[in-house]
Amino acid sequence: MPVVTFTTDHALQKSALRQANDRLVLNLIRQNSGVSRADIVRLTGLAASSITFIVRRLKKEKLISEEKIDKRPGLGRQPTALRLLASARTVIGMEFDPDGAHILMADLEGAPLSRKTIPMQANQELFFRKVNAALCGLVQALAPGQLLGVGVALPGTIDSATGKVIGAENLGWFGVEVGALIRCGVPVPFRFENVARLSALAEQWFAPAETPGLRDFVSVVARGGIGTGVIAGGQLLRGATSAGGEFGHISLYLDGRRCACGNIGCWEQYASDLALSRAYAEQAAGEELSVDAIIARARAKEPAALKAVDAIARHVGLGFVNLVMALNPQAIVVGDYLADVWDLIGETVWTVLRSRAPGYTLSALRIYPSRHKGEAPLMGAIALVLGRFFSSFEQGGEAGPVSSVLMENHA
Ligand SMILES: [Zn+2]
Repeated sequence: MPVVTFTTDHALQKSALRQANDRLVLNLIRQNSGVSRADIVRLTGLAASSITFIVRRLKKEKLISEEKIDKRPGLGRQPTALRLLASARTVIGMEFDPDGAHILMADLEGAPLSRKTIPMQANQELFFRKVNAALCGLVQALAPGQLLGVGVALPGTIDSATGKVIGAENLGWFGVEVGALIRCGVPVPFRFENVARLSALAEQWFAPAETPGLRDFVSVVARGGIGTGVIAGGQLLRGATSAGGEFGHISLYLDGRRCACGNIGCWEQYASDLALSRAYAEQAAGEELSVDAIIARARAKEPAALKAVDAIARHVGLGFVNLVMALNPQAIVVGDYLADVWDLIGETVWTVLRSRAPGYTLSALRIYPSRHKGEAPLMGAIALVLGRFFSSFEQGGEAGPVSSVLMENHA
């Protein structure tokens, strides 16, 4: 008979549980600024005595402030308002795109503190040397413990564990070890994810108070291709080998245009910004224009531009039919040029959807331009670090979000 042994480390478990509860309460204060201790007891189900300990610890860490709601003297024990001290910690977000490396430093609420762009240059070694100097200058200037981490938005297919860009057509990067090239020699966590997934995270994390709780939605980015970030059941869809949710490369046609991915007939070949430029050139005897210029001409009702935009709209719609049938989302959030052109293509996209997808898949669906526009991946890089800090154990491991209240016994 096999011998089963259980090894438990109670001290470690208790400390992890304590931290999880601290974060749970901290996140609650973040989401409900001005909340009282009594509210927290009601919302979490934790004992009032536990909340007393947790609030004391959070105040000691200078993460929250507490002030009396009614400041008149002599009123005795009064309810207090708890608020997150947004400046208590700092986060750095980075994004690489054809313009260069964009660095954004932000506080705990994602409010920008400083920005910097290191222009792209042909000499990759020199470029990364400059990026490293700029980033590490910022990192090393912060007091120890102040920086929660660095979130990095990478284009194309990536290895999110190491920050390696496996293939990014728009930058011509193949097998570039970005993660290794931007380390600063300080014990600060670096987290990597691709731009489309981070756009989805930005939408989820920085959701406006009036429309909380998007749990099933798709974020679509369109810059040199089509990328999709999928949140399903509140979680980022990654798949078995981190290649899940790549709807830009679903096969739309059996025989179609060759895609940079090596396949043929991929959706992005018919719906991306590059596809719009190509469609316009086909309509306008080879005239090549920027996407912005084509959109401007379509607004001015130039026939070639209108035809190109219409061709794109029908293909965007076709791709959305696949998104809807696969994922039944509450929302599809469009970014980049799709956000700019949405007022021109939205009606056609919906017509395609209604003609192909059953009504019950569309009844809860909303489609709208991202409020972060082109900055969604950068804000997502910030959200990647903040999400980890507010909803899971800070140190070590792959703990997921704390989804239920954990009980802490102070007795
Ligand atoms: Zn492809």
